[in-house]
Amino acid sequence: MSDSTPPHARAQPLSASTLPPAHMPLVLIIEDEEPIRRFLRATLEANHYRVKEAATAREGTLLSVTTYPDVILLDLGLPDGDGLNVTRSIRKESRTPIVVLSARGQESDKISALDAGADDYLTKPFGVGELLARLRVALRHANAATGRDSSGSAEVPLYECTADARTLRVDLSARLVFVTDQTSASQNAARRQVRLTPMEFKLLAYLVKHAGKVLTHQMILKEVWGPQHIADVQYLRVYAGELRKKLEIDPAQPRFLVTEPGVGYRLTEGDANTDANSRVPRP
Ligand code: CA
Repeated sequence: MSDSTPPHARAQPLSASTLPPAHMPLVLIIEDEEPIRRFLRATLEANHYRVKEAATAREGTLLSVTTYPDVILLDLGLPDGDGLNVTRSIRKESRTPIVVLSARGQESDKISALDAGADDYLTKPFGVGELLARLRVALRHANAATGRDSSGSAEVPLYECTADARTLRVDLSARLVFVTDQTSASQNAARRQVRLTPMEFKLLAYLVKHAGKVLTHQMILKEVWGPQHIADVQYLRVYAGELRKKLEIDPAQPRFLVTEPGVGYRLTEGDANTDANSRVPRP
């Protein structure tokens, strides 16, 4: 009888493999292709997620409100509706992060889904590392929701990211930007302050608040330049180019401000944020 078992005999060390199920994030997969669902389930369960599956838009929308998922993986091409409409109906009920799964040729649907409130996307075929990274970012942004300001962005006053031999550091509250280069000639790192124009800083601040997430041209233009400028993609290209000249080692091969072709931009996820607030057990 389990009732007679002494408490110490029941106690288990709390490692990733014995985490109570309730502490493991629940992923809702809305995808009609069975082999892809099977691959996703196996991958996610091996990485300490719980999984629910839906094969249709209708079932997925229902499960999105009845199972309280922590994150939703949503295929754009479903037999009974498109992912854009599913995104819209989920967004009427909840802020659960949605990562869209798209095939090549669904670029405009993907952008529409992002503009309708999806948080990110993966283009098929995608790798396991990419999938897990997207889920971590989505969960981190969702868990930071308590600190959200009126624009819905998470409060991230300090951003630090190292790529190749350069560290970019952005202190939003002090409005200071630094780059530090690991010079090969000496052990000393060369740190210098980067001077930005007010508009460049406004753009960078918006990217920092959403670091790790893809942002569509329309989202950035609306937030940084205002709703009257959502079609002025050339503004954004010019300013992104200026930021890269000031921040990147090689502006033609950007490591911080990355282009998402045909969609928008993504600021590489910061180092300091990778573990913070994450509920996903680390391998
Ligand atoms: Ca499909």
